[in-house]
Amino acid sequence: MEFSELNLPDYLVSTVAGLGYEKPTFIQEKAIPVLLSGKDVIAQSETGSGKTAAFALPIISKATPGQGVQCLVLAPTRELAEQVAFEFRRLSRNKKLAIAAVYGGVDIEPQISALRRSEIIVATPGRMLDHLSRRTADFRRLQFLVLDEADKMFEMGFIDDVRSIIKTLPRERQTMLFSATIGPEVRSISSDYMKAPHMLRANPYVDKGALKQLYYDVRPQDKFSLLLHLISEEKPGLSIVFCATRSRVDTVTRNLTANRINAVAIHGGHTQAKRNSVMRDVRTGKVHILVATDVAARGLDIRNVSHVFNYDIPKTSVEYVHRIGRTARAGKSGKAISILAEADHENFRHVMEDRSLGIQRQPVPSFRRVAFIMPKRDFSRNFPRRIVAGYSRRR
Ligand code: AMP
Repeated sequence: MEFSELNLPDYLVSTVAGLGYEKPTFIQEKAIPVLLSGKDVIAQSETGSGKTAAFALPIISKATPGQGVQCLVLAPTRELAEQVAFEFRRLSRNKKLAIAAVYGGVDIEPQISALRRSEIIVATPGRMLDHLSRRTADFRRLQFLVLDEADKMFEMGFIDDVRSIIKTLPRERQTMLFSATIGPEVRSISSDYMKAPHMLRANPYVDKGALKQLYYDVRPQDKFSLLLHLISEEKPGLSIVFCATRSRVDTVTRNLTANRINAVAIHGGHTQAKRNSVMRDVRTGKVHILVATDVAARGLDIRNVSHVFNYDIPKTSVEYVHRIGRTARAGKSGKAISILAEADHENFRHVMEDRSLGIQRQPVPSFRRVAFIMPKRDFSRNFPRRIVAGYSRRR
């Protein structure tokens, strides 16, 4: 199918062509006609599926410049809010719409004036509620509500905030909910606040032909050395190394840097400015190894990821699929490599319960052992001290 067959106005068809979008993605093909018809939609989809344009294009086509706030998008993280606002701005370049991104951790004043002059608001729930209690947002002319990455938003504890926000909105509106998984909270929001929603399922986002999934099982003290070995052997392009906690992210990043690997950390403990600068470095190719927690990585629009390394194994196959879904996108190939040690076995068993995944065990190659420097508080939790000491001696 072509964009020109979707009943979008011509200026939007030329905008997407100008952005190099050759054909609509699966979710765009399915969602755009339904959204243009004015129906509520629940779409199972995630970052990388083209979901932002799937809701943004119909909204842009219907919004009118100078008529107040007509659309509110709620997103779980600041990064996602920025990315969605960015995509809206690119797609509305042929129409004079103002788009404001509204999230916490930054000065509220500029947001207040942006809220007054924008037609489209992309916000995180906490800061949006803040604005509502200050009466700095006027939603009387709102026509569209989008709940983006709804499952993540609820997983992060925003369900009550989302409900409080929805209660302030006009009932006559079109509501769109995008979520990777459709759980009980998504269902309860849809039954409380949506009108006969049309359900859309995205096609499976793990393309097994393009994505190789491997795992290695090693001694805990060999994890980092194997990661380093694989990075030097695989010569990956843009990669994400997933760790379980913020402190693990910091420690692994520090050790990679100490071994002359150009890696940066991204997690929820960073300031917005730092996160923005990390994302800039990734986008401009300055950095190609990103070490991240699930929460920080979720929703980031990072394209062309060649490798996902699971330095810690996620607790569920759903989270695993989220991680590996970052690579092998849009027909490109990718690799997802899990590095297990004893502490990961239980989580890995849960991941493997999804038998459709097809993760292949690999023989452990020989590799050079390197020291792994840990902050003091991590010593007792991860290894007995003597192992680490013995380890460094070998270097
Ligand atoms: P999303 O799933 O909305 O996060 O989109 C992922 C990326 O794909 C974004 O950077 C979009 O700019 C890009 N994109 C969206 N739709 C298309 C399309 N039809 N063709 C090519 N790229 C697209």
